[in-house]
Amino acid sequence: MFFERMNPITDRVASRATAMSAADARAVADRAAAGCKAWADMGPNARRALLSKAAEALEERREQFVQAMTDEVGATAGWALFNLMLAAGMVREAAALTTRIGGEVIPSDKPGCLALSVREPVGVVLGIAPWNAPIILGVRAIATPLACGNAVILKASELCPRTHELIIEAFASAGLPAGVVNLVTNAPQDAAEVVGTLIDHPAVRRINFTGSTAVGRIIARRCAESLKPCLLELGGKAPLIVLEDADLEEAVKAAAFGAFMNQGQICMSTERIIPVAAIADEFTARFAAKARSLASGDPRAGNTPLGAVVDRRTVEHVNALIDDAVAAGARVLAGGKAEDVIMPATVVDGVTQKMRLYREESFGPIVAIIRAADETDAIRVANDSEYGLSAAVFTADAARGLRVARQIRSGMCHINGPTVHDEAQMPFGGVGASGYGRFGGAAGIDEFTELRWITIETVPGQFPI
Ligand code: NAD
Repeated sequence: MFFERMNPITDRVASRATAMSAADARAVADRAAAGCKAWADMGPNARRALLSKAAEALEERREQFVQAMTDEVGATAGWALFNLMLAAGMVREAAALTTRIGGEVIPSDKPGCLALSVREPVGVVLGIAPWNAPIILGVRAIATPLACGNAVILKASELCPRTHELIIEAFASAGLPAGVVNLVTNAPQDAAEVVGTLIDHPAVRRINFTGSTAVGRIIARRCAESLKPCLLELGGKAPLIVLEDADLEEAVKAAAFGAFMNQGQICMSTERIIPVAAIADEFTARFAAKARSLASGDPRAGNTPLGAVVDRRTVEHVNALIDDAVAAGARVLAGGKAEDVIMPATVVDGVTQKMRLYREESFGPIVAIIRAADETDAIRVANDSEYGLSAAVFTADAARGLRVARQIRSGMCHINGPTVHDEAQMPFGGVGASGYGRFGGAAGIDEFTELRWITIETVPGQFPI
């Protein structure tokens, strides 16, 4: 049984993938369970060598990745190549971690007792990844878990099964032992059953999920049933504050990149720009001009900064957000409603609490300008969201920037930089409705290992009974 993913622009078949049943998924988890031991027993430098090869194997598939991402999700070649570069970096960072998965000697009060804490692999890790940054997020779901000595299952997105399959092909070609790296693909209507079966499987000990907040809640509930820890990287509504002393040129550039890169379909996308009153008119005029200069087009032609959005649902969602905001008094300064998946970069000014655009994630090429009175008011607006993934603040005074950053409730905040910023070695993650847990660098080791306490008695014991 197969299912098809249609190209969002041509509506022709972009890829075909196996529509696995729950029983198929169970068999994959069994295979992963069988593959765990050989990988966990392998020395850290042997694991490092194979992961390094996997990074090269990803890069060797450059053309195939660009083709798959353009066909399946309407991405530009630039976005696909950026995905590949960061993803290969993530695998190299994971490879570098293998000799850093240590423990410690803890002073014991018991005479002659040597107490150790030891980090050990957990078994099978299930990673569930979305389509929007498919190479980065597919690789992120498995790279650190593998470095920690676990077998992995990547649950592919139904919107880009071929892109996710290419990741697994690359890891397999690097020569990791059988059963260590696995792929599950499913038809959209089977997602709940297939994912549920995988979470329930006794060999699966950790789950990481990157996707929407709504599905994140379903995953968290299911994990709680069997008391399995999960890492959730969910939606966002990133604010970018522009203070009166900011370099407006820098703020405009960063806000445009953050709002419109990959057509605004990044969890860290700038969704709310919050300029303070003193510079709001000037900033807004310059930002709207910049947005109008950013053309959208067919990504296959390769000559526009914006490509297509992933599906008609996004078009309808963004159009509805525009209608709702305009009806309540907002002004469209650039772009506007779209007829098809090639959507313009859209700027909506004068957004207030009573509009859906104020709090709903758009996940499209649209950004709200919410004007604030001053610094205090800007911080209040930034925090007036259930989400808390990324944020940014622009000011010429670095100490002031730090003070403001510390008051914003988010997992990440950038001073004088865009909200869209990811590096393999950084602790990446959010708070509130953006989820919990951290990918990246040493933080990832905590997520994907079991910390055990082991003691050795070196002198005869003395007991009260
Ligand atoms: P989604 O939640 O719709 O789908 C993600 C995965 O969930 C898919 O693999 C799907 O098979 C699975 N799924 C769907 N219904 C399910 C169910 N009932 N039970 C179990 N599994 C189910 O997300 P999406 O549309 O693919 O991705 C977009 C979202 O992801 C946005 O909200 C975005 O902000 C978020 N995102 C977050 C990060 C981050 O790092 N925080 C990164 C990228 C995207």
